[in-house]
Amino acid sequence: GQNSAPDYLKGLNPEQRLAVETTEGPVLVLAGAGTGKTRVLTTRIAHILATGRAFPSQILAVTFTNKAAREMKQRIGHLIGEGNVEGMPWLGTFHSIGVKLLRRHAELAGLKSDFTILDTDDVVRLIKQLIQAEGLDDKRWPAKTFAQMLDNWKNKGLGPDEIAEGDARSFANGKGRQLYKAYQERLQTLNSCDFGDLLYHPIRIFRAYPDVLKEYHRKFKYILVDEYQDTNTAQYMWLRLLAQRPSAGRAPSAEGRKPDRASAGQAAPAEASEWSERAAVSGNKVNICCVGDDDQSIYGWRGAEVDNILRFDKDFPGATIIRLERNYRSTAHILGAASHLIAHNEGRFGKTLFTDRNDPEDDKVHVHAAWDSEEEARAIGDAIEAYQRPDKQGNRHNLNDMAILVRASFQMRAFEDRFITLGLNYRVIGGPRFYERLEIRDALAFFRVVANSGDDLAFERIVNTPKRGLGEATIRQIHDTARALRVPMLEAAATLAESDELKPKPRAALREVAANFERWQKALETTPHTELAETILEESGYTDMWKNDRSADSPGRLENLKELIRSMEEYESLRSFLEHVALVMEAEQGESQDAVSIMTLHSAKGLEFETVFLPGWEEGLFPHQRALDEGGRSGLEEERRLAYVGLTRAKKNLHIWFVSNRLIHGLWQSTIPSRFLDELPETHVEIAEAGNSYGGYGNPYGGGSFASGRGGGGRQNPYGASRFDNIGAKDQGSFSNTYATPGWQRAQANRTEATDRNWGTRS
Ligand code: ATP
Ligand code: MG
Repeated sequence: GQNSAPDYLKGLNPEQRLAVETTEGPVLVLAGAGTGKTRVLTTRIAHILATGRAFPSQILAVTFTNKAAREMKQRIGHLIGEGNVEGMPWLGTFHSIGVKLLRRHAELAGLKSDFTILDTDDVVRLIKQLIQAEGLDDKRWPAKTFAQMLDNWKNKGLGPDEIAEGDARSFANGKGRQLYKAYQERLQTLNSCDFGDLLYHPIRIFRAYPDVLKEYHRKFKYILVDEYQDTNTAQYMWLRLLAQRPSAGRAPSAEGRKPDRASAGQAAPAEASEWSERAAVSGNKVNICCVGDDDQSIYGWRGAEVDNILRFDKDFPGATIIRLERNYRSTAHILGAASHLIAHNEGRFGKTLFTDRNDPEDDKVHVHAAWDSEEEARAIGDAIEAYQRPDKQGNRHNLNDMAILVRASFQMRAFEDRFITLGLNYRVIGGPRFYERLEIRDALAFFRVVANSGDDLAFERIVNTPKRGLGEATIRQIHDTARALRVPMLEAAATLAESDELKPKPRAALREVAANFERWQKALETTPHTELAETILEESGYTDMWKNDRSADSPGRLENLKELIRSMEEYESLRSFLEHVALVMEAEQGESQDAVSIMTLHSAKGLEFETVFLPGWEEGLFPHQRALDEGGRSGLEEERRLAYVGLTRAKKNLHIWFVSNRLIHGLWQSTIPSRFLDELPETHVEIAEAGNSYGGYGNPYGGGSFASGRGGGGRQNPYGASRFDNIGAKDQGSFSNTYATPGWQRAQANRTEATDRNWGTRS
């Protein structure tokens, strides 16, 4: 009965409880954000363990990030006592579980169990060698492009013999298939695999060796998957292989097939139709529980198939489908805003979401405008500091409770700089900090050598970037000469370039490098430093290197480089800028400290924070132009789902920002507020008005509504240029100035208690 229910079940609502207690057979929980899907999964694991249905090692649980896996383990421990959970060896991401499987059965993929996992750079270098070995021109057929194709194939679970004829032909005059095979063979020789292989090899092994698969069928009594809407085809195949139990008679035996063990890794027989057929006749129930939300599918661009979630009951006949409708995370205003926005997407499942939280004290969703990204960062920094101060009840926000979620990683720079200045702890989640990014470090290395020709570390970093045919031997020679002559490497390079110790090609390359730096160093005295920085990146071929690079992240890298140049404007000289960067890089990023999180919207999935800031809601940035150009209507819808993910991360306070000027493609442009702002319902939104958080500004929107004057999703600025001109122009463009104005203080005095607490007063 209800009363005798264990504690961990007591807080659940009836639907959640059903999802937890329906342990046998397939279960799908399809529900909106914050309805407790992840909590259901965690409690379900606790329940399975507490009732002795399985040992920890018999549960396979897939989370979206390693962090989520760690948190889930902790929470399970809390629910049923640490002593009852001796670790959960099979709780992790698809990739981390994939590595573990592959280490156990490496020899079936032609590898040894101590294989190494190559990073993207290694992969590209390897492919380049193969392309050259084929006698192909690697400029015409770039290794990066092929690496991308390989990744796509592997994400679809396709081996060399299964790729579409057209795809195979499209690269290197029809040598795509051959290259794929050669690549897999080469990996085997190197006892290595790439990231895609971590799923691809296990799939191949499971298909080729039914006995191995059967071992896991016996082992995993329960399978659980979070964020199911974002599984790609390979992940889906992998799951189905593990989840669908064939009846004994139907499974082809390993003896009967006798696959060639050594080649299983690269060319296992295609049997896609066979395994789905096998599944269909299988009468065995599978204890698989997947949870997800079709409205939060945001990885379509990486091959995720939202259809996987929508056909769950076809894959697993007799599935129990459970909907959760009560949101426990957010205030009614936040939930109302998010639900209204996502309703603009077509072709969704559609769901109801409600909350019992209806506190009249709750703030509406705030929308703010700023002049540019610097001002946006300043204002958000100030808001964070205000939230940190105690409110009337004496409660104060921890920095850990706050997050800034950006659409594109270049946006992080302004925040990182500002927070360093303020001495505000922050951490960047899911990626390196801005100045630690590869392209930024490269660019900085060029600048450092220009500012200080003795900076050998920097010189070494870029002497052969972009590739100039300077091999290790030449670099060693530069080193030796530098040591012999007791001069910096740059000088040694210049000397070598004039001697006949080198072959003509490296000599010419070095001569160019030396001449470049000499010219740039001279220009340092005469040219504005931002202009010079741009020239350096262009003349060195560095910008072109990324322009010609066709991998998915190169546009982002180019954006980051633009942002880097932009940020230099704030400094007087190249040297003072480099000094600033050195200080920023020094700043520590402690894991355990109280710190504001900065991350992309993509990596915020599944997380929640008391207070969330969403900057950069402008057309072109969000929705992102690239998504619109490449994806059309479905691109826009994926962007809108991303906005929905962003809005629904907030529990209590939500602040959306847009700026009126942003550097786009290297040019300052007046921006247009994001169409997503228009899609927020007036009832739940409050537009920051004059004297509220913007002492001295007039309300730039007149009517105070985003919906007004905006016809048919047109891209024209509906507010009239003059209104935007007001922003920032009247004041000295500084928030710290405007905060001091009487208008600000007056407004401050009039604010409700709730808002007062949020923004505090500046002392
Ligand atoms: P998302 O779609 O964003 O991943 P979700 O559906 O996984 O969200 P959870 O993260 O599991 O939602 O839950 C959201 C919040 O609501 C968490 O703080 C969770 O602890 C809380 N919560 C969930 N169910 C309950 C409940 N029955 N009682 C109280 N709080 C709950
Ligand atoms: Mg979740």
